[in-house]
Amino acid sequence: LSDPLRSLLVRHDLRATRGRLNVLAVLQSTARPLSAAEVHERLAPERADLATVYRSLESFADRSMVRPVVLRDGVRRFELAERKHHHHLICDRCGSVQDLAACNVSPFESMARDEHGFQVTDHAIEFFGICQGCRALSP
Ligand SMILES: [Zn+2]
Ligand SMILES: [Zn+2]
Repeated sequence: LSDPLRSLLVRHDLRATRGRLNVLAVLQSTARPLSAAEVHERLAPERADLATVYRSLESFADRSMVRPVVLRDGVRRFELAERKHHHHLICDRCGSVQDLAACNVSPFESMARDEHGFQVTDHAIEFFGICQGCRALSP
């Protein structure tokens, strides 16, 4: 397992246990936010029980090491917070999640500031629709 994950844990005052390193490695190797159950599925069954995976993810979230992502099904999923800012494209048919790198929300930030005197410090935007694969199956 890579040293960056170990130092990420140490930086956040967490002991670099095998279990925590495994959970982080799964998040790092997967290009979409994952729930505790999905992380658990990707680990070898003897590696960890679901409750341990869940606790690890929540302690990472408490320390802002991972970012919670909540889609329309209400399930809490997580992705590494150090990843570059991006948005998600979620397919309503197959449930696939892709990253959208583009972010152009300055018109909304201006509107919030000018019309509401509100300073935007962060935002989360998810897009729902039909992915390319599903569109090819039934346009
Ligand atoms: Zn799809
Ligand atoms: Zn954005």
